[in-house]
Amino acid sequence: MVTTAGSQMVCHECDLLIAVPALASGQKAYCPRCNYLLAANRPQALTIVFAFAVSSLLFLLLSIAFPFLGFSAGGQERTVTLLQSIAILVTEDLPSLAAIVFTTIILIPAAFLIGAVYVSSALKMNRSLPGTVTVLRWILMLMPWSMAEIFLIGILVAFVKIVSLADVSLGLSFWSYVLFTVCMTVVMLYPDKRQLWERVRSLNDD
Ligand SMILES: [Zn+2]
Repeated sequence: MVTTAGSQMVCHECDLLIAVPALASGQKAYCPRCNYLLAANRPQALTIVFAFAVSSLLFLLLSIAFPFLGFSAGGQERTVTLLQSIAILVTEDLPSLAAIVFTTIILIPAAFLIGAVYVSSALKMNRSLPGTVTVLRWILMLMPWSMAEIFLIGILVAFVKIVSLADVSLGLSFWSYVLFTVCMTVVMLYPDKRQLWERVRSLNDD
């Protein structure tokens, strides 16, 4: 892995302006005032991003293909898939909420992951694919709008509340969604964004 270039950056935690030196493979730079991790040159970052993004996309596909939750109460049983649980919002006259949920828990994460696969492939092959810079800009912009993990926490809170009213079972898709969220979190947190920008720009300069 290449050495990263030195540059000036502002600490996200304490706003200190710091001249970050060039980092050799495996080195990290911390803020001298608050010890916040400023930059890291991780040699395996691209392989990890690619592998976890592909896995995450597969888990997302699985999570819409099978039953998500099952309920049984008073002799009645019902299972719902992830998409059905969103469609229920439409039948409850909440179409805009359904659209927001669908966008933030499926559409944006899927777009983010496809973009991450695209950028990491371009960097792994060391080839400038069309629009790599634009795709990287878009995926970094989309990142805060993915609500997959918040949705999951919401499901768990609801689960605890309704478990006294009905027998609730977690389906295969639920567990796929958990794995999808875990893999996507790795894709979001592991790579150093500054290093990604540097490498994408250096591809375009070639
Ligand atoms: Zn700091």
